[in-house]
Amino acid sequence: MSPARANASESRGSYPPEVAGAAAPGSDGPADSRPYNPMTPRRASLMQEPVLVLNATYEPINVTAVRRAMVLMLKGVAQAEEMHSAEVHSAAHSHKVPSVIRLLAYRHIPQQSRALSRKNILLRDRNTCQFCGRVFSSSELTLDHVVPRSRGGRSSWENLVACCYRCNNGKGDRTPEEAGLKLARRPRPFTLHTSRQLMRLIGHRDERWRKYLFY
Ligand SMILES: [Zn+2]
Repeated sequence: MSPARANASESRGSYPPEVAGAAAPGSDGPADSRPYNPMTPRRASLMQEPVLVLNATYEPINVTAVRRAMVLMLKGVAQAEEMHSAEVHSAAHSHKVPSVIRLLAYRHIPQQSRALSRKNILLRDRNTCQFCGRVFSSSELTLDHVVPRSRGGRSSWENLVACCYRCNNGKGDRTPEEAGLKLARRPRPFTLHTSRQLMRLIGHRDERWRKYLFY
């Protein structure tokens, strides 16, 4: 086993919530993963800025924070592919920080079901209630099961939509048809396209991500 490979598997336990399969940072991730909501106008600090994570093959696989990306680089698990224009300053030095990093060892990404999170559903639906069409902050939205769970509706990308509390209460344990509500659009399943789209939404101001996300 090569040193790089050993290194990668050794740290496996510490970062799968961010790297494995998730299009956007996991909902249960550490503090790092909090500020990615694109609806948040200003990010806390440079260390919290999103960094695009590429597999060894340059395939985009996730987004993490500058702080986490720098740890991966220090561990020799990843290297910087693009640098941020801003720098962080310590007492004696200033350091360039990455905007895009690439894992040095190829990581097999398991089935993308882990990407199913409240955060990602709200991102997909752009914080818009899918019944009344109004935009809300994340705290004012809940997830609605289009086909209620009591009728066998599953918790899946195809059956969960962003929904304001008012519409959610109005709908109750009914289907949209029964409640006289109409979906703004059919909830899309999770695909590679969804994954890329979520990453674009997160990095929407970072031009350096473009060539890896094909837009
Ligand atoms: Zn609503």
